[in-house]
Amino acid sequence: MVESRQQTWRRARIASGRCPQCGKGRLDHYSWACDACALNHRRRRQRRLGVGPWRPGGRGRPPLAVRGDESQAIASTDAE
Ligand SMILES: [Zn+2]
Repeated sequence: MVESRQQTWRRARIASGRCPQCGKGRLDHYSWACDACALNHRRRRQRRLGVGPWRPGGRGRPPLAVRGDESQAIASTDAE
């Protein structure tokens, strides 16, 4: 499969340690986007799939903000 021009640009942006959407620096090499873009992506995906924010007793693991990890709190905080 031939990689498109946009995919090549995006891959190079991620490899250089920058967010492919806004160009800001990412936190670490494990994340594919900055915190704001990852949060927006998460909200869009939740809205598209009809999934709400995490609730105690619900499915899945608790967000990092609920678990008390302050360094990742901005990425997983739901303001709704
Ligand atoms: Zn970004």
